[in-house]
Amino acid sequence: MNYKRILLKLSGESLMGNKPFGIDPERVNQYAKDIKAVAESGVEVAIVIGGGNIHRGLDAEKGGMDRVQADYMGMLATVINSMALQDALEKVGMKTRLLSAIKMEQICEPFIRRRAVRHLEKGRVVIFGAGTGNPYFTTDTAASLRAIEIEADVVLKGTRVDGIYTADPEKDPEAVRFDNISFQEVYAKNLNVMDMTAFTLCQENKLPIIVFDMNKPGNFMKIAKGESIGTLVQ
Ligand code: UDP
Repeated sequence: MNYKRILLKLSGESLMGNKPFGIDPERVNQYAKDIKAVAESGVEVAIVIGGGNIHRGLDAEKGGMDRVQADYMGMLATVINSMALQDALEKVGMKTRLLSAIKMEQICEPFIRRRAVRHLEKGRVVIFGAGTGNPYFTTDTAASLRAIEIEADVVLKGTRVDGIYTADPEKDPEAVRFDNISFQEVYAKNLNVMDMTAFTLCQENKLPIIVFDMNKPGNFMKIAKGESIGTLVQ
């Protein structure tokens, strides 16, 4: 395997599968099987999930809601998604721990870095819920931050697109995928990989990012083995 410890970021929307909202159990089960395969091959896996399938702070603010209130709701949405994935992982026989940035003792452990690392060393799949625990941030930033804190080798951004393109491949048929790209080039070409806070955090801490298509079964394993099926930013 190419990595010892990885952080996988999944968007909330990816959990919707083909449904218009909420959580598609089929999609979550596919992710659980893919994660199991990688974790059982000896790679330590930590996960951050977004909440966009349920609630987004910025959108709610546009509708008139107080931004901070709306962001806390978004963070709670990530815990719901995390619990869904935790359940699916346990159904396929994985040992898991959900650690939340906002205390909810009946449901999950509080986020404590040393405890997260210990769980990973014991082979448990660790899910980080509630983002960073702070409003005005995103779960991409939570993914970068947690990856740095637990000294992950890489952040894997699992999306429905198989990498970073010269233009939006869903709109422009001429768009070409990059196999490799530098942080500088992403800035210079104004490409959308993660939000700026998340992206800069990775750059400043020399944490590589790989964007890949998580919806194709088996892809996560290929990435973990070091196959070049996405875009590597470093
Ligand atoms: N959020 C937040 N702080 C964080 C992480 C998330 O306030 O550290 C809120 C924010 O309102 C965001 C929502 O949670 O819109 C859902 O997260 P995100 O938009 O990152 O989810 P994704 O787009 O990955 O599904």
